[in-house]
Amino acid sequence: MVYVNTNDMLIKARKENYVVGAFNIVNQTSMRAVVEAAKQEKSPVIVQTSQKTVIDLGYTVLVDMIKELSRDADVPVAMNLDHGTDMDVIKKCIEYGWSSVMIDGSKLSYEENIKITKEVVDMAHEREISVEGELGHIGGKEEHIETNKDEIMLTEPEKALEFQKKTGVDSLAVAIGTAHGLYTGEPKLDFDRLEEIMKICKFPIVIHGCSGLSRDIIKKIISYRVSKMNISTEIKHRYIDACEAYIKKNPDEYEPLKKFKFVQEDVEKLIKDYIKLFGSQGKA
Ligand SMILES: [Zn+2]
Repeated sequence: MVYVNTNDMLIKARKENYVVGAFNIVNQTSMRAVVEAAKQEKSPVIVQTSQKTVIDLGYTVLVDMIKELSRDADVPVAMNLDHGTDMDVIKKCIEYGWSSVMIDGSKLSYEENIKITKEVVDMAHEREISVEGELGHIGGKEEHIETNKDEIMLTEPEKALEFQKKTGVDSLAVAIGTAHGLYTGEPKLDFDRLEEIMKICKFPIVIHGCSGLSRDIIKKIISYRVSKMNISTEIKHRYIDACEAYIKKNPDEYEPLKKFKFVQEDVEKLIKDYIKLFGSQGKA
């Protein structure tokens, strides 16, 4: 069983200059695609669950599933709660054995964000579970997280360091202009800001909203030594498109397991592409 602490993974990634992909799953098919892709590419990987997925599938099911799938994997696998905003869900994920949780207090005031993040850190660290916080407002829409254009607030580098010191958070999601969902045009990212953040903050930095960024932009982000990049929307699209493609190709097939397998393998291809792009291939 190589089900591990998320932050050890992220610290190693920064040191060795690659990114660990955090891929959002919605069920066993997509979770299997993520773990299989990591096994094949000999890469560390983070399986990510949104609050909605956790509530839909249940705590025991998700933990049993990840343990079962990673038991024979000779690669490190972690499971992270993405954008935790519900204290009850966060507490239960810590209790049931997620590798890490994210507390998203980015809609709160700076002081309130510190207070709630510290509360989660104290609770999680007692069980050696790591915590991702968020400072600044990442744009776009994903699951229950939605930020209007006028609410987007890029992360102040000095504040990021202060936030980490005051909360003890293990990693931090920062806003540099990426957005959740798919991009309609090329996003304008503030690389000077990212450079400053990386110079000041020596702990793992996380970038959200990486679905649909061009390969060049992703490579540029990686060169600043961020530790974790999140891919969600693109996986959902690939999943649904694969379902549709299978039904079109096999209109008379009524064996669901065959379709699940087809969808898994197709999503797997997408994950493998990202693992290669992130440079985590062979880093298990
Ligand atoms: Zn996000």
